[in-house]
Amino acid sequence: MDNKKKITILGAGISGLATAYWLNKDGFDVQMLEAKSKPGGSMETSLEDGFLVDYGPNSGLETTPLIRQLVDEIGLSNEMIYANESSNKRYILRNGKLHALPTTPPALIKSNLFSLRGKIRLACEPFIGKSNDGYYQSIAEFVRRRLGQEFLDYAIDPFVSGVFAGDPNKLSVKSAFPKLYRLEEVYGGLVKGMIKGARERKKRSEQSKQNATMFSFINGMQSFPMSISKKLKGKISYESQVKNVKLENNKWEVTFEKDGKNHELISDYVLSTIPVYEASKIFSRLDEEFSKHANDIYYPPVMVLYLGFKKKQIGQSLDGFGYLIPSKEKKIFLGAIWSSTIFPNRCDEDKAAFTLFVGGARSPHLFDIDRNELTKKVLIEFNEIMKISGDPIFMTSKIWTKAIPQYNIGYIEHENYFDRFEKENSGIFLSGNYRGGISVGDCIKNSEIVYKKIIAK
Ligand SMILES: Cc1cc2nc3c(=O)[nH]c(=O)nc-3n(C[C@H](O)[C@H](O)[C@H](O)COP(=O)(O)OP(=O)(O)OC[C@H]3O[C@@H](n4cnc5c(N)ncnc54)[C@H](O)[C@@H]3O)c2cc1C
Repeated sequence: MDNKKKITILGAGISGLATAYWLNKDGFDVQMLEAKSKPGGSMETSLEDGFLVDYGPNSGLETTPLIRQLVDEIGLSNEMIYANESSNKRYILRNGKLHALPTTPPALIKSNLFSLRGKIRLACEPFIGKSNDGYYQSIAEFVRRRLGQEFLDYAIDPFVSGVFAGDPNKLSVKSAFPKLYRLEEVYGGLVKGMIKGARERKKRSEQSKQNATMFSFINGMQSFPMSISKKLKGKISYESQVKNVKLENNKWEVTFEKDGKNHELISDYVLSTIPVYEASKIFSRLDEEFSKHANDIYYPPVMVLYLGFKKKQIGQSLDGFGYLIPSKEKKIFLGAIWSSTIFPNRCDEDKAAFTLFVGGARSPHLFDIDRNELTKKVLIEFNEIMKISGDPIFMTSKIWTKAIPQYNIGYIEHENYFDRFEKENSGIFLSGNYRGGISVGDCIKNSEIVYKKIIAK
């Protein structure tokens, strides 16, 4: 008799695939259900007219050795690439001009991104005391108190747009940036914490996000989920929309729609890695409180605009990662990644590729205007900043109507609820980027935590 434990995994994004890979290796009977026709979820790459376009993440940060281990095991090491040295240089737009973000104390002293007053305020950080509960404190409040308004406006506000496409006044410092908050909570301040935290990470062989290496793959980010999926051959059912999950004779029965018909899968466990607003349609039947929490988690819309130019059209030197735009600068877009500077194989040598982000929690209303109109406005601003003459030779875009979950103030109540839901519905596990971090690296770390929870069951 086959006594392998059966698990049905909903969603074949990086979160579902990583856990599926480890469980399959451990001898679980894994079956994955994915609504789209390909694996990867938000990790979506395509080659169009000689330009390699990443519509989702353009890179990941190697914050844990788990990433490299997984890449090696799936046989993708030869395709893994690290960011060009020059991409450590990041720019911030201030008064219409690009300023390099200082990364060392001497560079900070020399930098004209911040005023003298702003720099003196930064130097006061070690003398600022602790605050109250970070779950109910925004990242804006936290940074304003510890580092001053100018650092909030010209470093953290654009950084928050770059990571979450989020609003610093709404994101909870402890839920969205737990490591940053921990520096204050545990060590009493950021400077003190950075020194002591570095020693602790060294012991755990982990990297802080600011020191972690940025990686991608020679053929784009989707190569990663694609290669994991090849190791799970025959175990992923695509174009399979999960509709319902219910308990039948102490087993979980998952109903999904494929080719216009409903099908059932029976398993011991169910792992959901689909976005929470999709999970809500399924799990609210088990507990109606699920939808209350899911509806409260905001996913703002983001447009990814990818542009290709001939290098000779561009006046700005391309010697960095790209730039972020503070809200105070009042531009339509959030920032631009200089994609072909960071990684090779994004386009021909005489061309340059850029990925721009538009909208997010800062300006979701932008999508009320026509997409072509919006694109034209962005192009005018972008060309001016980059000193570009003429039109792009290649252009494509994608609107993610629900891009990234916002870990806003009070998010801990959702986290606690999801823990409770798992306890009350033994055998169901909830994972994905609405729990424990949104970055690719966090998704992989959390996938391992979930994998360990499942094997310990
Ligand atoms: C535009 C954008 C840019 C980003 N940039 C970066 C970056 O540069 N670096 C970084 O680290 N992170 C970045 N992120 C975040 C990161 O890519 C995501 O958080 C991560 O990939 C999420 O993976 P996931 O597996 O948890 O979810 P998803 O990738 O969303 O996967 C969930 C899967 O579930 C499927 N699904 C949904 N409903 C159902 C259903 N009912 N039945 C079956 N299947 C279903 C979906 O089709 C999808 O494949 C970015 C995200 C976006 C959107």
